[in-house]
Amino acid sequence: MGKTGGRRKNNVKKEVYLKSDHKGNLDIVGLENKNIIYLLKKFKANIKDPQYFSSPYILKDLLICSKCGNKLIPKNYGKHKASVYRCPTKENGKSHNIIKTELIEDLVLDKLYDINYCKNDISMGYNKYLSSFKEKNETHNKVIYALKNKISDIENNVKNIDEMLAENPKQHIINGLLKYKHYFQDKISLLTKQLEENKSQLNIKPISFKKFNNQINIIIKQIPDKRVLCFLVIDKILVSNDNNQLKLNIIISPKTL
Ligand SMILES: [Zn+2]
Repeated sequence: MGKTGGRRKNNVKKEVYLKSDHKGNLDIVGLENKNIIYLLKKFKANIKDPQYFSSPYILKDLLICSKCGNKLIPKNYGKHKASVYRCPTKENGKSHNIIKTELIEDLVLDKLYDINYCKNDISMGYNKYLSSFKEKNETHNKVIYALKNKISDIENNVKNIDEMLAENPKQHIINGLLKYKHYFQDKISLLTKQLEENKSQLNIKPISFKKFNNQINIIIKQIPDKRVLCFLVIDKILVSNDNNQLKLNIIISPKTL
């Protein structure tokens, strides 16, 4: 087919689109999971930092000092020195935690790519997922309980008004009572809606361990970009480095869930 004038115009636009908007997704080769692309876009828009996923520090924002709970901050000491992640808290003039970037990043990636080694962390991550699910349901149950009480209180008000109306009061009193009755009825329908929403949340079941595990494996297989990979599967990593013995507690939680 020959080129038309309209086509040519579109080509120009397409190129611009590829350069700016689409480029961030080109790292994710062969990725079919639209969920992940959506997630990354949404996150990027929220933090308003276009460089967020281009950071050479693939564990940036994920490392937590187990002593003080602060985030370890990436630090580059200069050309010929190794870069580190460092806890900003100092004790006796010394940072809680200073770990060479390469060392900790290799350790974490080895774990992620070695399915057997990683299994323990995935089980722990799944247990965390289940307990946060349970917590959410407990909150919904509390809200449901409170809403039911509120609704029943207001229903009592309506009942009282009906009893008063049954006694044939004067017209201006009837008008006043009806106004209150409508106000209460509106309130009941609003609260009932909230009640149904909370009840429907309770019907959502947690995913199985197998699905949880699959979700992580899919991300590990599909995302070649290590920075994006760590962001997607790791919730946080508690780091302790007492007596130069590095200990990592990797909390795995796929952000796609
Ligand atoms: Zn610390």
